[in-house]
Amino acid sequence: MVLIGLLKQGAYGLHTGSENMEVVEKQDVEDLEKSLDVALQFFSVHLPNIVGEEIGAFLIEQTHRLIRQNAADESHFYFTAAEIYKYMNGQDDSEKARRWMKGHEEKLSKLFAQTSSLNALLTEKNLSPLRLERVNSKGGIPTKWRIRTGSVKSTGTGNSNALKVRYVVTHIDDALPWAKPFSNLILTPRKLILVAIGLLTSIVLTLYTLIGLVEWGSKTTNTCVVIFGIVAGIIFKTLHELLNKGITTYPAFWSKKLAKNKLLTINATGQTNAPICMKAVTIEAKCSVCGEDLLIEKSREFHNRFVGKCRVAPSEHVFSFDHITKEGTFLR
Ligand SMILES: [Zn+2]
Repeated sequence: MVLIGLLKQGAYGLHTGSENMEVVEKQDVEDLEKSLDVALQFFSVHLPNIVGEEIGAFLIEQTHRLIRQNAADESHFYFTAAEIYKYMNGQDDSEKARRWMKGHEEKLSKLFAQTSSLNALLTEKNLSPLRLERVNSKGGIPTKWRIRTGSVKSTGTGNSNALKVRYVVTHIDDALPWAKPFSNLILTPRKLILVAIGLLTSIVLTLYTLIGLVEWGSKTTNTCVVIFGIVAGIIFKTLHELLNKGITTYPAFWSKKLAKNKLLTINATGQTNAPICMKAVTIEAKCSVCGEDLLIEKSREFHNRFVGKCRVAPSEHVFSFDHITKEGTFLR
């Protein structure tokens, strides 16, 4: 009996464990970046005057830096007390750091309370609030903190939710150095025309070289011109689709690590002289029918639109994909 009781307890423990895992939903890095931008402005006006607030400003700055560097995805945005203490006080003492952090944590968490003036400002600007997440020490890993976006307000419950999916940007741009100029390029009309002319010239030269109309003197130069032309052709095709649909798949050889759902998207900058910019993002979404991963791909059936297809039921669980609202509705 005791054994059964223990087993049951164990099963129960596991169950709540997996429930907790589900509660920690992925945050949208793009939304996080927008909120951090405003938070940085906030601190340039309201200078932090107590240590708790200084820690808050520091965490905001560091998280913003990590996103900007494209060095990591959101699972890396954590800081331990020792790290924070070392950065801020220049001392390497984990025991002292732990006590120091404990002393200032209350003030720190006040800064990220739902009703704090920082979050009031974010809500006023219609941005996601920021909150402090604390992961308690476990199995030798010290307690760590991070700044993340607040929970997303759910729109409606029950049946209507099963027909909607939410797309989350988990990573912004990890393009290889030579592809960087293209990934966050501000697209002015003049730049676009110059790029298009350059690419087309290169493609035409390649064709001429191939049919022997142009002779470059040596075989090596000929080969170089042809290879350059092929690369230009691929970039041209990518740009063409991007401008036509506002979205295209991110060429695999452009990025450092392979992952699914890598996309180049066009977004509004809000500036009149350069109205649109290009962004490389990695997107994740879960099928709202069965909970499996969604793969974003072009579908011939939907006139070559990009749609989100369920990994296990790609022909049944299909959702639209809107990279601006980051929402999708059930298509079939
Ligand atoms: Zn599904």
